[in-house]
Amino acid sequence: MAKPRWRVVVLGARFAGLTVMHWIRRLTPRDQVEGTIVDPWPFMTYRPALVYAMQASPTFVRHWRIDVRRVARRAAFRFVEDRAVFIDTAQQKVYLASHGPLSYDVLFLTTGSDPGWHTIDGLDVSLGGLCEDYLARYTATVVQRWAGGSFVFAVGPHHGNPNGTPRLATADEFMVYESSLLLDSALSPALRRQTDIWLVTPAPTVGQALGPRARHRLLETMQRRHIHLLTNAEYVRVDPNGIHLRSGYLPANAMVWIPPYTGSPLARASHLDDGWGWVPVNAHLQHPEWPNIYAVGDITIHVPKLAHSAMVQARVAVHHWWAQVTKTPAPPPYHPQVLCLIDIGHGQGFFALNTTLYGDSRDLVYVGPAAQWAKRVFNRAYVWGRGALMVMP
Ligand SMILES: Cc1cc2nc3c(=O)[nH]c(=O)nc-3n(C[C@H](O)[C@H](O)[C@H](O)COP(=O)(O)OP(=O)(O)OC[C@H]3O[C@@H](n4cnc5c(N)ncnc54)[C@H](O)[C@@H]3O)c2cc1C
Repeated sequence: MAKPRWRVVVLGARFAGLTVMHWIRRLTPRDQVEGTIVDPWPFMTYRPALVYAMQASPTFVRHWRIDVRRVARRAAFRFVEDRAVFIDTAQQKVYLASHGPLSYDVLFLTTGSDPGWHTIDGLDVSLGGLCEDYLARYTATVVQRWAGGSFVFAVGPHHGNPNGTPRLATADEFMVYESSLLLDSALSPALRRQTDIWLVTPAPTVGQALGPRARHRLLETMQRRHIHLLTNAEYVRVDPNGIHLRSGYLPANAMVWIPPYTGSPLARASHLDDGWGWVPVNAHLQHPEWPNIYAVGDITIHVPKLAHSAMVQARVAVHHWWAQVTKTPAPPPYHPQVLCLIDIGHGQGFFALNTTLYGDSRDLVYVGPAAQWAKRVFNRAYVWGRGALMVMP
């Protein structure tokens, strides 16, 4: 009797999607899986490296792209360059913008969050950002021509269920800690004296996702580097010269925005979300209503939204699915933890591993050269291995 072939569809090909694909390849015999991965972009931009816009020439982004078609080919997956527009959960079909529908036995939903530029009056991509390669390229150009003034890093709010637990004001803001500190280290001492670096966040404190020790250390680091902090920010309007906040106006000669996180339009359209655009999941990342749909990465209700969490979730989800197929014991469930590993310049890095956000007590923090080294090695290893690390988190 022929072995069953499982039609596996992965939507999204960045941290979560690529890791799902790698785990499927590692766990399953090739003749038992018919894999398809879908993304509108044939190249994945490795986002954690985009913070180097603060110290590199604008073309640096070219070195941080991964050819998804090649990765898919190696994993024996079919890559479809398209956007999923609707999931018919009853028929087990994904409708795409420009190809015919895809049928699935199991679906991995890894399409992340849409950027909510439109949710703040006056805010748009032209004001500056870092989350995509074209935005980082523009920011690198701004930094190269920088002649002093007020340089503002602003984080948009996380739009999520106000009663959700844990609740964070922003989905992820580690990248603005990293980029503001990298800017501080990249400017010449003379130019630094003529520059005010601001970090604006709706959170009540920097490091809201961290434990008390790590948060204290982060705050101390920002203060020592003379980064001005504006917390509890309520955005009213943005114009090309600054930010109108409920508490007053902050002028800016340059801005870098992390736009609000507004959830997934695909999950909303397919009625798979929690009413706020995020996909609810159980401890093995399965949708509570549709056990053959797993959600992994930024698209889930989990906070904060981190690449590290996406990779861990991908491991748990794929192992769980395969355990069900092979009727073997389920793997341990997903235990969220917050891992912050950032390059802070001047030969230093900041590392924190925390579980206090989830009611546990782990609150590890280290600041020093080994953390910078670890971050740089991880960055290189990820891109060099095209997402397949020798030791996966
Ligand atoms: C500047 C920056 C630096 C960061 N640094 C770090 C860091 O150092 N450490 C860390 O842990 N995290 C970091 N993060 C966060 C990390 O990048 C995200 O958590 C991670 O990218 C989430 O991965 P994901 O695959 O879930 O979602 P995404 O990265 O958002 O990927 C989603 C993919 O789905 C595709 N897609 C979207 N809609 C559809 C659709 N309808 N159909 C098909 N495909 C679709 C998109 O094109 C995209 O390729 C950083 C983020 C930024 C912006």
